[in-house]
Amino acid sequence: MSPTENAAAGDPLPNLFGADRERLRDILAPMTSRAYHATQIYRWIYARRETGFAAMTDLPAGVRDALGSGYRVAWPRIASVSESGDGSRKYALALDDGLLVEAVYIVYGERITLCLSSQVGCPLACRFCLTGTMGLVRNMNAGEIAGQVASIARDRDLDPARVRIVFMGMGEPLNNYEAVMDAFRILTDREGFRIPPRRVTLSTAGLVPGIERLSGEDPRPRLAVSLAAARDDLRDDLVPINRKYPLAALMEACRRYPLAPRDRVTFEYVLIEGVNDADEEADRIARLVRGMRAKVNVIPYNETGIPGLRTPPAERAVRFRGRLEKRGVPSTIRWSKGRDISAACGQLVTRPVGGPSGGAPGTI
Ligand code: SAH
Repeated sequence: MSPTENAAAGDPLPNLFGADRERLRDILAPMTSRAYHATQIYRWIYARRETGFAAMTDLPAGVRDALGSGYRVAWPRIASVSESGDGSRKYALALDDGLLVEAVYIVYGERITLCLSSQVGCPLACRFCLTGTMGLVRNMNAGEIAGQVASIARDRDLDPARVRIVFMGMGEPLNNYEAVMDAFRILTDREGFRIPPRRVTLSTAGLVPGIERLSGEDPRPRLAVSLAAARDDLRDDLVPINRKYPLAALMEACRRYPLAPRDRVTFEYVLIEGVNDADEEADRIARLVRGMRAKVNVIPYNETGIPGLRTPPAERAVRFRGRLEKRGVPSTIRWSKGRDISAACGQLVTRPVGGPSGGAPGTI
């Protein structure tokens, strides 16, 4: 369908936000013979985040007009914001079809981290995670993924080049590999958002082929793996994808992940009272990561109403971490931010109210 037909049908014009250079070149081909116009547009869209073609003054008026009548530049719209007492903010962002995703703005002292979603819902159904209860609604596209940064940067008046990015929101990033990597390239491109690749971390529940594929990318994000258990019987239950890619294969892929000089693979370990918080489990983690450049992030389980799962007392988390350190494993306890606004790890979940044909989107 041509852009004009699209417009005539009353649908929104095709969105350029998310397009890479090659796609921009293809779109511009009928409008101009000059290849550098694609680079100029790329900069307008991603470095300056300009949404009006009229403002793109270094482009010939004819090109601007042609773009304006056939295309638009747009990123997800903020449907609602909840502000936490700790300064974090949870954004519900509306996609074009009315579905909602959540992204979180997190402040640690001077540091700002944006936690991004990669899918609406998630297919992996980890026992402790609320997003998993939604199932996979759909994949997000590259523009929607990178657009979360545009949306929050505009709202907070932030220079995106200064933030850290974690793909730790809704969804399994390696289950939506192409779109996530397309977004990663836009976010890290020197003519795009200019975020240094080393400040971007991708977290996976353990999709081994995805980790292997990521190993071959350059640039690539830093790797985090949601471990949750250090033995297969328990991990099969907590992180069902483990039945397909058991710990031995997962750890092997992690060992092969190419690391920058001072970098390490992060293992996130959601600590659940009476389930995986025994001293022996810390010892098992230490055995798993022996000889590896690894660190462990202990995340005390955030209660989400899932029956039988409880947050351990703070002393338990401290003891668990101490045990890891004693076994030579660098570790930290990540006391989740934004718990009071349900923006913490494992608490992101949305439900559309209405949908493509109208009605205000909402969250639960
Ligand atoms: N699917 C990817 C990206 C999501 S990251 C992944 O699993 O890595 C979300 C992180 O929050 C994961 O490390 C997960 O283990 C953790 N998490 C999920 N539910 C949680 C909960 N209720 N409390 C604390 N951490 C949780």
